[in-house]
Amino acid sequence: QRSLAAGRGCRTAQSVVPRREPPSFPPGAGSRLPCPAPAPPAWLEIPVGRNCCSSLLSEQTLSPFQCQFRCCLPLPQVFNDPIHGHIEIHPLLVRIIDTPQFQRLRYIKQLGGTYFVFPGASHNRFEHSLGVGYLAGCLVRALKERQPELDITQRDILCVEIAGLCHDLGHGPFSHMFDGRFIPLVRPNLKWKHESASVEMFEHLITSNKLEKVMEDYGLVLQEDMNFIKEQIGGPIDENTREKSWPYVGRPKEKSFLYEIVANKKNGIDVDKWDYFARDCHHLGIQNNFDYKRLLKFTRVCEVNSQKLICTRDKEVGNLYDMFHTRNCLHRRAYQHKVGNIIEIMITEALQKADPYFKIEGSKGTPYRISTAMEDMEAYTKLTDHVYLEILHSSCPELAEAREILRKIERRELYKFLGDTHPEKGKEIAKVMSPKNPPLVEPKAEDFIVDVINMDYGMEEQNPIDKVLFYCKADPTKAVRITKEQVSKLLPETFAEQVIRVYCKNQDPDTVSAAKQYFIQWCIRRDFTKPQDCDVVAPHLTPMKKSWNNIQEAECRTAAEPSCKQRLPFDE
Ligand SMILES: [Zn+2]
Repeated sequence: QRSLAAGRGCRTAQSVVPRREPPSFPPGAGSRLPCPAPAPPAWLEIPVGRNCCSSLLSEQTLSPFQCQFRCCLPLPQVFNDPIHGHIEIHPLLVRIIDTPQFQRLRYIKQLGGTYFVFPGASHNRFEHSLGVGYLAGCLVRALKERQPELDITQRDILCVEIAGLCHDLGHGPFSHMFDGRFIPLVRPNLKWKHESASVEMFEHLITSNKLEKVMEDYGLVLQEDMNFIKEQIGGPIDENTREKSWPYVGRPKEKSFLYEIVANKKNGIDVDKWDYFARDCHHLGIQNNFDYKRLLKFTRVCEVNSQKLICTRDKEVGNLYDMFHTRNCLHRRAYQHKVGNIIEIMITEALQKADPYFKIEGSKGTPYRISTAMEDMEAYTKLTDHVYLEILHSSCPELAEAREILRKIERRELYKFLGDTHPEKGKEIAKVMSPKNPPLVEPKAEDFIVDVINMDYGMEEQNPIDKVLFYCKADPTKAVRITKEQVSKLLPETFAEQVIRVYCKNQDPDTVSAAKQYFIQWCIRRDFTKPQDCDVVAPHLTPMKKSWNNIQEAECRTAAEPSCKQRLPFDE
């Protein structure tokens, strides 16, 4: 068996060599198939062929009904995943995987520009999506097994798995670089999120590959289940129902917990995170200290205000704090690495310069740009990280400027990092400033890049654990909340902070040195925190600010006479 990176695990082998050994499904795995039913469902009439398996299935793993029709059963496919090991994927999910819209995810790096800093981080959205589909199935099955009274059906399980598999279909080139940097830069008035593109791409995947019939053949109720899957990915479908007590149409209130598995809008604890923690850490070479398998064992559903919601055992609260701490560490060390970020800023700039000249053919032959491709899913299917190489290898004169930026990345002639600072509480910068309009207007505004990063526990200022429900051993049916004070005194006081990083495009050492002085002066004026190296790079400036030096006012030099030669332009 080959690993995922090299291609798919067992599939090729399965279709060529008949397996002799009994299958390794756990008991009950066969029950994923919609059965029993009075007559064989339509999917059993799929011509016997690539999945014929009459000699393979042991009688114990199949219901009598399945034994009767066993030679026609499409088997789950086994994939060898580096994170979760050998995982079984339902044949309907395999049909979804084997489409151009899903295969596109092979060509989108999970961590975008971070791969230019961490040489192992070359993994793509494709394998992450398989992992989330698998973990979604694990969680929903664990709940079904533990609490049969929840009435989780095979249809529910299949829909949750499909939602996990398809939740990231709408990502653009270099993942979060596209919706976090490129789109806000080139279409500042467009409110666009990759989640809504995932919903649209999922719909396009099903219709353009004519999978409606296949879905029905596997027991799904098309309209209802399509809605349910889309709602799990993008939230309520109808904007008008958002304010209602139950905003969803795919499943009733009694199954509210199903909406918390793939993308948990309440507290952010979901299988998407579980997969990317494990996978990103593996590829980054960073230790992962969060164990989702343990959490899986301590998850239950309790009824709260007539809704049934996912709850965690009270003693696991510390592990949940650790989970958010791990997330924050990953952001600091990898996702927001200062070099990775500047490379993403440079790629974004290159895509912006290439955008007017870049044609992607959509439906009915209509041409789209990089910035408009998401308006047509046929065009968007063709938009992946490949744009980088297309620009880099092009000889078209219109792309010369964009090409030169990418060549700079290849030669590692990166924009220079000047330093970072934190604004005081209440002085946060409202939004990321575009390189066209930085606050540092003189002497050469176009040399400066300001990158504003908002770091939090996923819920801005709020503590996500305040939104988590717990149950205790004494009465596992009752949901309770646990405050931070009940856990430890050594937990964060605040849950969000802003980091402002400033870079200089000009590589000339004198200009970089001057730019550093301006940056420090800017921090003094704005009352931001002291840049870490400023006592060394600007010892003549730092004494001006009392609070930076922990000394009495009288000892400070006056800030009215800065020692910088040029006029400092950093007015409020
Ligand atoms: Zn994801």
